[in-house]
Amino acid sequence: MGTQVAVVAAVAGIGAYAWYMRSSSKASALDKPVFSSFGFHSLRLESTELINHNTKKLRFALPDADKPSGLSLTSALLTVSFPKGRWLPVLRPYTPVNDLNDPGHIDLMVKLYPNGKASTHLHSLKPGDTLTFAPIKELAWSPNKHDHVALIAGGAGITPMYQLARGILHNPDDRTRVTLVWGVNTDEDIFLKDEFAALEAKHPGQFRAVYVVATPDAGSPHQKGFVTAQVLEKAGLKAGEGKNQDIKVLVCGPPAMEKALGGKKGTGVLAELGYRPDQIYSF
Ligand SMILES: Cc1cc2nc3c(=O)[nH]c(=O)nc-3n(C[C@H](O)[C@H](O)[C@H](O)COP(=O)(O)OP(=O)(O)OC[C@H]3O[C@@H](n4cnc5c(N)ncnc54)[C@H](O)[C@@H]3O)c2cc1C
Repeated sequence: MGTQVAVVAAVAGIGAYAWYMRSSSKASALDKPVFSSFGFHSLRLESTELINHNTKKLRFALPDADKPSGLSLTSALLTVSFPKGRWLPVLRPYTPVNDLNDPGHIDLMVKLYPNGKASTHLHSLKPGDTLTFAPIKELAWSPNKHDHVALIAGGAGITPMYQLARGILHNPDDRTRVTLVWGVNTDEDIFLKDEFAALEAKHPGQFRAVYVVATPDAGSPHQKGFVTAQVLEKAGLKAGEGKNQDIKVLVCGPPAMEKALGGKKGTGVLAELGYRPDQIYSF
């Protein structure tokens, strides 16, 4: 995840403002949703909400209150921050978690990392402040291309998974089964729990969420530990599970988790479970 981001960030950093100036006027001239093509745009922070002990929801207003963002499933937004005391801009991707068809706003959920350059800046923003964004296309989702999609997340890596899960489940024509396995450090790290519970209740048999907590509270309803081969197998995510089933595996988490899972390298937990590198996508 780090390398891709560094490359995108480096490329995007060159001439960000030139692009911003050019594309802002171009998009409004064509009257298209703001992020339907590449370009940098400054959005105004509308509201903030503390979601748990370290995560904030930030709602940014789109330039046109009647239009959606123009982002496709799945996409992120590259943010350009100028934290106080820094000469160079800080570029980091974040994933909108609102319904991509929502008009007028985008919502981010940002986890605060102590000393994190972008996350501390984003957490310091107040309504009325602005932030510059550019769209990044991630995995282009095709409804019903796969029988089953496994979403394996660690910590704040949940946001792309939520975007995709709600995108699939809100589309009545998409019958893809979705299994989410989310590894966190403590019970209080879990957010979006009500949203996932509502999706499970509305789509029984199509969607299931499994939580794995490294250090659970006494009496926690969740299983203790890390996202291991045993945990994934118990969640029904062995490659051969279900005859001839085509499973796509999506991974987003901290570097240690992605390394243990193995990803496209053809090693680690996912290889152990029988997945081929071409079945795996890492955000
Ligand atoms: C496609 C994509 C989408 C993303 N979407 C979101 C999102 O919706 N919400 C969100 O909160 N984040 C998201 N991230 C992560 C985000 O881009 C930043 O990497 C994160 O906010 C840390 O940036 P920072 O500048 O604050 O920290 P940095 O200044 O880069 O790092 C400071 C310290 O924080 C710790 N740290 C940084 N990143 C991580 C990490 N991922 N895991 C564990 N420790 C870490 C490390 O100890 C590091 O030394 C996404 C990443 C990708 C690749």
